Amino acid sequence: MEWAEKTDREWAEILSEDEFAVCRKKATEPPFTGKYTYCKDDGIYRCTCCSNELFSSRTKFDSGSGWPSFFEPVNKDSVKYETDVSYGMVRVEVMCARCGSHLGHVFEDGPGPTHNRFCINSISLNLDRDKKDHN
Ligand code: FE
Repeated sequence: MEWAEKTDREWAEILSEDEFAVCRKKATEPPFTGKYTYCKDDGIYRCTCCSNELFSSRTKFDSGSGWPSFFEPVNKDSVKYETDVSYGMVRVEVMCARCGSHLGHVFEDGPGPTHNRFCINSISLNLDRDKKDHN
């Protein structure tokens, strides 16, 4: 099936109200409220909407921002980017490459080796603790 072709109406039937607001309407969960902010468990974070593999626990770090933060996606093709000029800022939005779900934003103030900080809403993610990162 083509994830990107799903309508808002179809997504609204599958997702909770909060998931729909963030993933499909680009809302941001309040900082320090998401379930993965402080999570240190091993596994692969998948897309809430389509289960695409997005981030590895291996690349997660505590940014102090109140949102789960990663220095790179699990595969370079697992996410896509778009310039976001909302709220008077120029930011780079990060989306699931498969279904277009809004994940968060990426900033250039992260730790090595990439110096990127993927600042991601917990609600956009589902940690798969059975899936191990062998890198
Ligand atoms: Fe997705």
